[in-house]
This record gives sequence, structure tokens and C-alpha cells, in this order.
Amino acid sequence: MISLERLCRKNIWDLAPYSSARNEYAGREARVFLDANENPYNQPFNRYPDPLQLELKAALSKVKGVPAENIFLGNGSDEAIDLPYRCFCNPGKDNVVAIEPTYGMYKVCADINDIEYRPVLLDEQYQFTADRLLAATDTHTKLIWLCTPNNPTGNCLKREEVVKVIEQFEGLVIVDEAYSDFSSQPTFRAELSKYPNLIVLNTMSKAWGCAAIRLGMAFASTEIIGLFNKVKYPYNVNLLTQQQALEALKDPFEVDNWVKVLLQERTRMIDAFEILPICEKVYPTDANFFLAKMTDAPAIYNYLVDKGIIVRNRHRVQLCQNCLRITIGTKTENSELIAALRQF
Ligand SMILES: *Cc1c(COP(=O)(O)O)cnc(C)c1O
Repeated sequence: MISLERLCRKNIWDLAPYSSARNEYAGREARVFLDANENPYNQPFNRYPDPLQLELKAALSKVKGVPAENIFLGNGSDEAIDLPYRCFCNPGKDNVVAIEPTYGMYKVCADINDIEYRPVLLDEQYQFTADRLLAATDTHTKLIWLCTPNNPTGNCLKREEVVKVIEQFEGLVIVDEAYSDFSSQPTFRAELSKYPNLIVLNTMSKAWGCAAIRLGMAFASTEIIGLFNKVKYPYNVNLLTQQQALEALKDPFEVDNWVKVLLQERTRMIDAFEILPICEKVYPTDANFFLAKMTDAPAIYNYLVDKGIIVRNRHRVQLCQNCLRITIGTKTENSELIAALRQF
């Protein structure tokens, strides 16, 4: 790996971060807070939240098996997707490489930050090779985006190829594991100490059932986490989110239970789709959704919308012609979708 200092934008490496009132006394006992121009009334909402979310990170550290100092928390994964661009990519000069098709936010953030985005098409099985991805890089490539299980395809990427990219690429490799709770594959979080150029993303939005609170996380070396913390808004995760996430983390068994039910329902839905005359193929999935190739995806999509049922039409995405992406819902919701499709 190239040194982090050389990978980093110079203005970010040299940045003196904002120092909040609460940063400056840290470590000592305090009772009277007259430092941050807060209103003393209306507790607990009157006080600024912990900018580094230390209590929440301690709880997450136990669940995720990653030391707290290797965790960054953001306003959804969206923030953790944007920060690598802001920290490492010089606008109008650097570029990033990603598999295609994949999650749309990697490209949106590249466009916002004026960074060239280089998509490398997957094969017909929605797999990639490290060699083809690495061939798309040059000396200005700072990041490679991988997503496993991938969205919208649902499948896990071949592990040997992911490892090869991490081992051979000189810049940073970001592995988005938003759906890893639904997969039996081992998580790349466990590989962090081996690879200083690896960033793994997780979210509370999927298996944890907390999309509304906006909490995403990045796991990486303390040096990378330090850069993210320097660049993020000082109070990027609000108090209500921190409290609600702590509440959710008290009961990880509930999540296990949801995942179990959703995986059973996924099997039932795939079986039902496979015998629908309007379904040509269901692709293998390791996530809480699946991609199905239909006879006429746009027509079926519109028919379902008229019935008040919304799925994701991926017809216009490369390699996904006539595909619908179906999220696994409750048993009732799933049955309603199947019943409607039988009537098409
Ligand atoms: C849904 C999803 C996320 C989650 O984004 P949040 O901002 O945390 O809600 C991240 N990555 C992928 C690939 C997703 O599909």
C-alpha cells in the first residue's frame, strides 16, 4: 500500500479540525457546563451529543468484534461513502474504480465531488476478476468500491478475487457489507488487522431494522478513522440516533430472529417466482432481496404500482434488462405480491 499521507489530499492531511467546547476539557470530572452556549433547560435535548459517540462505539465493538478505535459512525452509510472521496480524492484529478452494476451512491458521490468514476462490468454470473478491475486503475486511482452481497444483484462476490484486489491494489479498497447479516459468508471485518488499506462498511438500515435513525459505520485502521473524524461534521450523529441504536444493540437476538424469518420467506418467495410463467430466472442471492428476470419488467412493474405494490424496476441497469428487485417483506406482504403476479 502507498503511505496514507501520499494517498490523502494534502489539505486534509494538513487540516486542523474544529475543536468543540466539549473536546477541550476531556478526561476530567465536570459538573457545571457553561462552555458551549447551550440552554440549561429542556434536558436532555439541550446538550450537544458526544461527537465521537464513545458509548455507542463500545456497545458496537462487542457486537461487531472490532475495537472501538477502529469504528467510524456516520449519518447512514451515505456519510461513510462520501468521506473517502473528501479525504483521499482530489477533484478533477483522481479517479475511483468500481464493479458495475452496484449500489448507486458510489457514483453519485463521485459526481458530487468531481471525481472520475470507472465502472468495470461484471460477467453474466455477476462476478468479477481482480485482474480486470486492477487493469482499470492508474496512478490516480485512490479507491476501489466492492459490494458483497452486491446490490442490486444479491450475490456475494468471489472471496479469492476480493482478497486479491485488497492485496494487490496500492490504494484503498472499500468493501460494503450492508447485507452481510443475511449471508453465511465470513465478514471482511475480521481481516482488518491484516490489511491497512481495507475499509468495511456496515449499516443499521437493513438487518437491524433502523433505516429511519440513519446510522452507518466504517471499520478501518485507526489512521483512516482519524482522518474521517477530522473531516466529518462535529456532531454528525444526533442524540436520538445514538440512544435508539444503543437500545437496538441491547437485543441482538431479535435481529437474529428477523433474519431467520426473512431467509425462510426468501426461500418461499424464490420457489413461488420460479414457477410463475412471467418469471424467466431468479438469480442467486445472499441478501434480504432477490433479482428476478421477468418477461416484461416495465409492464409488470406498472401493473404492480396500480395495485399499490412497489418493487424496484432495474430494467434500465446494465446486465439487468427485464429485472425486478424484490425486497423480502412480511409474510402477508410477500403473499400479496405473489397473488398479484399470478393474476398478471
Ligand atoms: C441500503 C444500502 C446501504 C445503506 O445505506 P444507509 O445510508 O446506511 O441507509 C449501504 N450500501 C448498500 C449497498 C445498500 O444497499
